[in-house]
Amino acid sequence: MRDFEGELAQRKQAGLYRTRRQISGPQQPELTSDGKPLLSFCSNDYLGLANHSANLEALRSALPETGLGGAASHLICGHHDAHHELEQRLAEFTGRSSALFFSTGYMANMGVISALAGRGDTIFSDRLNHASIIDGCVLSRAKVRRYRHGDVAELEAMLADTQGHKLVVTDGVFSMDGDVAPLKELARVCRAHDALLVVDDAHGIGVLGPQGRGSVPALGLSEQDVPVVIGTLGKAVGTSGAFVAGPEVLMDYLVQKARTYIYTTAMPPAIARATCASIDLIERDDARRAHVLDLVARFRREAAALGYQLMPSQTPIQPILVGDNWSALALSQALEEKGLLVTAIRPPTVPEGEARLRVTLSAAHSHADLDRLLQALADCRHLLAEPDIAV
Ligand code: PMP
Repeated sequence: MRDFEGELAQRKQAGLYRTRRQISGPQQPELTSDGKPLLSFCSNDYLGLANHSANLEALRSALPETGLGGAASHLICGHHDAHHELEQRLAEFTGRSSALFFSTGYMANMGVISALAGRGDTIFSDRLNHASIIDGCVLSRAKVRRYRHGDVAELEAMLADTQGHKLVVTDGVFSMDGDVAPLKELARVCRAHDALLVVDDAHGIGVLGPQGRGSVPALGLSEQDVPVVIGTLGKAVGTSGAFVAGPEVLMDYLVQKARTYIYTTAMPPAIARATCASIDLIERDDARRAHVLDLVARFRREAAALGYQLMPSQTPIQPILVGDNWSALALSQALEEKGLLVTAIRPPTVPEGEARLRVTLSAAHSHADLDRLLQALADCRHLLAEPDIAV
């Protein structure tokens, strides 16, 4: 039998062993983690909606009408009014013809990519794309060509020497770096080389663009430029699930072909109702976006002044680049001793030698919360050598 214990021991030795902490109570910056109070800077609840009273109320008031369980897959008898209304709401919110509600972003990426590309086709994927995109590419059985992060010139050269159906897939906002993909340029080369562009905007929806409509409208682009957008609902939207939005014919095709849509139980319909309520808030409330972006600007200024190496990100994802796994763990541990939760992110989630602390900011943080983080970072700065990684 394979030496599972040995492999785990090796991971521990390399500083790559992963542990879970146990959270009690609702998700919010003030967490109880393994019984200890911590101020968290690592959730994806960028707008502080995961525990918003209007969303909780929408969930509570939906339950008597919808019941709890999804009971069946969408194509059997699980497709509820509430799912349907959410899909219409998501299409309208993203300015697209049609949308489809998936149970998770992981499943949306796996299902969409493997349905839209298959044997004999070629998928072009940014090297820093999320794991679920990578797995969707594998599942598709298409040929996969990875281009350097954000390198549109390299992608264009690859597109030019490839025959057959082509699909280009990218994160909209990169999950571990926080930068936005060069969507305008990607749209241009996809048009020029007849490739279908798919953007996973998991971290852009709710945060970027007019009324939080995402990174595609933020760059002045529409369905003509980026035909397929995927978004998750468990991050800025604060609920659960995911969606894909685009031309009706593609959504129809996905209903026929996306295995992670077809062969899974529909989400509890009450979640769809709560999600509609959350989208109403997102559309209405520019103040949350303005506040979190204000915190981002301040964090960047003040953390850089402390000598920390930040990445070129203007989004709530603000990684502090550290380099080796042990230093990242030591900094995270020292912050935790000061009552702050900022997890260390290590390979394979990020490239070898680029371990980091992934600081995320939320509209639920106050400036006083940020004061605490910056003070702790000032106190812990001596733990790191001078920055030595070029970004
Ligand atoms: N895409 C990206 C870019 C992500 O960061 C994530 C989650 N970390 C997902 C997809 C998966 O979404 P979900 O958590 O809804 O499965």
